[in-house]
Amino acid sequence: MKKGIKTTLSLVLLICLVIGGILVYNNFFKDDATAVSSEVEKIMQEYNIDNDKYSKVLEYVLLNNIYNEEYLDQYADIEYVDIDNFASILTTFLPKGYSGKEINYITKLSDKNVDKLSNIDYVDISKYYNISNFDVDKIDRYNTYYENNDYTYDDVVTYVNIGMDLPVYTDTIEVSDPDSLLVLVNKYHYLPDGYEPDDLGYVPGAYGNNVPMRDVIVEPFKELQAAALEEIDVEFMPTTAYRGYSFQSTLYNRYVSEDGVEAADTYSARPGYSEHQTGLSIDLRNTALSSDIRLTDDNYEWLSNNAYRFGFIIRFPEDKTYITGYQFENWHIRYVGKDAAKIIYEEDLTLEEYIDLYVTEY
Ligand SMILES: [Zn+2]
Repeated sequence: MKKGIKTTLSLVLLICLVIGGILVYNNFFKDDATAVSSEVEKIMQEYNIDNDKYSKVLEYVLLNNIYNEEYLDQYADIEYVDIDNFASILTTFLPKGYSGKEINYITKLSDKNVDKLSNIDYVDISKYYNISNFDVDKIDRYNTYYENNDYTYDDVVTYVNIGMDLPVYTDTIEVSDPDSLLVLVNKYHYLPDGYEPDDLGYVPGAYGNNVPMRDVIVEPFKELQAAALEEIDVEFMPTTAYRGYSFQSTLYNRYVSEDGVEAADTYSARPGYSEHQTGLSIDLRNTALSSDIRLTDDNYEWLSNNAYRFGFIIRFPEDKTYITGYQFENWHIRYVGKDAAKIIYEEDLTLEEYIDLYVTEY
């Protein structure tokens, strides 16, 4: 019993010592951290600012002569960041009505976005703070698209950036980098007038013809063919790859006369808007199949899980027609290079999404 009391007392004493120690330690360092330099203290006195209003940002604005009494309470909410435009962000956005907390997010935006935001009146961007591909210019379109659809804000930003909130084949943009291996040609982006790749190479085709495609993709494609032959004993042959403007024009017009514009647009590109004109797309068929079917489900299974190893992607996947604007084409592959293809495969993206998330700078 006596021993028990002794132990309890010792424990209580020990706990008291520990708590006391923590309190002393904390006070010591707290005082140290909030120590105001005499220079800043002097300025604060001149402006009649209470000592408890001190913050790093208050010190910053005082020392940089951009203090404004009106924003005294906001300063406390702002985290100091060592960036070149910190002062201009404070002097630009506090007067526009942004709170201290909103300022913290503005300091994380790209220079481009900060610039755009500085040219417009206050706008609530709180939904978009952490979205890397957010573009200030499109804020109204994001908000409208969010209201009218059942998507997350992240998806809304990507989809609007892609142009999905606008009707296809209107406000289209001419491609500026037609020779790039990551060139994006779709219903919103068309190739320059008369564009033709100047490095066409040839691969034996499914019908005994020589199929033209960009020379840079001939080797990767042959590697893909060899792998398919070795791994699943299937011979994938190209039926068509590069198609010139006038041929696409003939093709599209024929489909329109047969099925009408609306239907034709779901499976054929308008001239100038066809990825085949880049020479980076290939339509395949399994030469062992005699029917109209180009690939079996098993063939596609292998292709969709292995094309990326050679730098190719399935360009129009079954569950992404609402993004690509094209019906599912299990036979249409597109070269994008190994790095991009791997990300697109692993993250289950379309080329549209990949470009927006990984290439375009906002
Ligand atoms: Zn195709």
